[in-house]
Amino acid sequence: MATKIIHFLVHGRREHAEFRPDCSAADMRGLGMPLELDNMEHRLHHLERRVIEEVGDVPEVLHELQIQVESFKKKLESLEHMSWLGLFRTDRDLHLAHPKPPTPQPRAREGLQKVRRRFLHMSSLQLTEDIKEHLKTPLFDNWQWEESELLVLLQLMFNDLDFLALLYIEPDVLHNFLFDVYRHYNDIPFHNFRHCFCVTQMMYSLIWLTDLRTKLPPLDLLVLLTSTLCHDLDHTGYNNAYQVPTPPLYPGTGPCPITVFLLVKHQQINAMTDLALRYNNQSPLENHHCTMTFGILSKPECNILKNLSHQQYRHVRAGLIRCILATDMARHNEILHQFRTLHPVFDFTNKEHKEVLMKIMVKVSDISNEARPLAVSEPWMDRLLQEFFNQSDTEKLKGLPVAPFMDRDQVFKPSSQISFIQFVLLPLFTELTKLFPCLEQHILKPVQQALEYYSNMDRAMKQKE
Ligand SMILES: [Zn+2]
Repeated sequence: MATKIIHFLVHGRREHAEFRPDCSAADMRGLGMPLELDNMEHRLHHLERRVIEEVGDVPEVLHELQIQVESFKKKLESLEHMSWLGLFRTDRDLHLAHPKPPTPQPRAREGLQKVRRRFLHMSSLQLTEDIKEHLKTPLFDNWQWEESELLVLLQLMFNDLDFLALLYIEPDVLHNFLFDVYRHYNDIPFHNFRHCFCVTQMMYSLIWLTDLRTKLPPLDLLVLLTSTLCHDLDHTGYNNAYQVPTPPLYPGTGPCPITVFLLVKHQQINAMTDLALRYNNQSPLENHHCTMTFGILSKPECNILKNLSHQQYRHVRAGLIRCILATDMARHNEILHQFRTLHPVFDFTNKEHKEVLMKIMVKVSDISNEARPLAVSEPWMDRLLQEFFNQSDTEKLKGLPVAPFMDRDQVFKPSSQISFIQFVLLPLFTELTKLFPCLEQHILKPVQQALEYYSNMDRAMKQKE
């Protein structure tokens, strides 16, 4: 339906409201929620002052009203913090879209060859039992290892899950596949090869910790490990909100000059990216990661699936697509809800149940940094912010609008982490722990500790202010 949009400033921040075309000017004046919230807060403060002057104390009912306004404001802020994940696509996110994100620098050829040589040189070395056991836990510290060594560890994961023997994967083909995956991760702060390693290593830990080998067939375990390995292939460091364009010009929009001016302005700064065009705005990044995965597997020298039967191949392909597409955080609530409804009657032999569980496990692995020791997780948080800041810095240089959650001048690290842990991580990890109670100590407790850590930091910083 055609709509009118009014933009306004709240404390210097751009806000907007969308109205039906038949909405009168008087109605519009009364509907600006942030303004109304601010007015309400202002009126409450005024009332409080008057009551204290006249009565000397504040009645309970006024306290309650203040708490309600404060809690509502917090909820609004939380939604804003989480929109960076694509959980909530606000129009502000969409306004960020513009056609050509700067492409990351390709890795230098010389560096690539060095990694390949070192990987092949080390690939036949035997790792100690200590390292092998450590690799099966969320305590593993990726920062201690070079990229060529991480490739050796990935090879070990495929070996130790018996994929080579059970699924007829040739060692040389596995080397080529792993190196080609490595080569197709860009040199960007967060969504890089090291991130894909961490996500794969978390999946590997979950498989061992939950004894999943006794519950799922090897083919499904291969889907889990390979989808985590490939789930962010060729990520450019710009999220889906950046790729997806704003809606087209609203036909029939009234002649309000402000609206027309703003719409024309949007048209200037927004256009479809190639990915959004190719995938019709449907999870463009995740679809791209899938396409890249099958591009690598289409090369005979890299095709670890080539000795599978036609039926097995179809099973793995469908599983990889399903699991990689599930990493679009815009689908977070939908997938979590599917899993919740299954829980009381979960059945490992039921195809539908199994598929939802696999999506959940890939999602848990993808956003599991906070389940790791602080020395491992905190640098990841800083890298994520760095990736956001790169985007917002470019936008500032080009005179484009900047989303507050990506702006180095506006992001407040503890509070955004608190919202993320409370509203995203804990509900997701709690559901998986219901199915596998053994995971409580390995992933749920560490996330609760991280929440405590950021809450303390938040309090300390606010007191300092
Ligand atoms: Zn990821």
